[in-house]
Amino acid sequence: LEAKEEFSHKTLAMDVMRPRRSDPPLSVLTQDSLTVEDVEALITETSYSGFPVVVSHESQRLVGFVLRRDLIISIENARMRQDGIVSTSPIFFTEYTPPPPPSSPATLKLRGIMDLSPFTVTDHTPMEIVVDIFRKLGLRQCLVTHNGRLLGIITKKDILKHMAQMANRDPDSILFN
Ligand code: ADP
Repeated sequence: LEAKEEFSHKTLAMDVMRPRRSDPPLSVLTQDSLTVEDVEALITETSYSGFPVVVSHESQRLVGFVLRRDLIISIENARMRQDGIVSTSPIFFTEYTPPPPPSSPATLKLRGIMDLSPFTVTDHTPMEIVVDIFRKLGLRQCLVTHNGRLLGIITKKDILKHMAQMANRDPDSILFN
């Protein structure tokens, strides 16, 4: 039991988060440099349940988190009901949106569908604590940062998979099962 406890202490958020080193980078939205067609492409090309929103790719500073289904609904609605929303319309997750220059497409403001304080942990947080937080707060996902920069994401399923792997590797559980 002691060995097991020590082991679980050593597993950190960075060991469970995605992307893995070999994976493509995290799919993020930038707060003020995307168009409707950029976001539609991201929705088509990926199947993730949600996307972190960052200030810029360079800064990787987290602004919020948007659910895939809310993005789809909002863009569909805007295209149908909002005047001047086209593929090249800029999307803003910021509070302030600059007025569009004359004869340019209307702006789509999506700050309202963003979770402004998604749960985050640092990459060095022990997984034991992360699991506890997931249980107690009923989280679906949690973002991972390092020095204020967004590094990755951990979903509930990632944790369940990780736990299943640990149980397989744990000699105690093999002996007693
Ligand atoms: P689930 O883990 O329940 O299947 P998702 O479909 O959102 O949920 O995520 C699938 C996998 O992709 C998970 O391993 C998750 O960590 C990862 N993931 C989730 N969102 C993103 C994202 N925006 N960019 C890159 N990877 C992501």
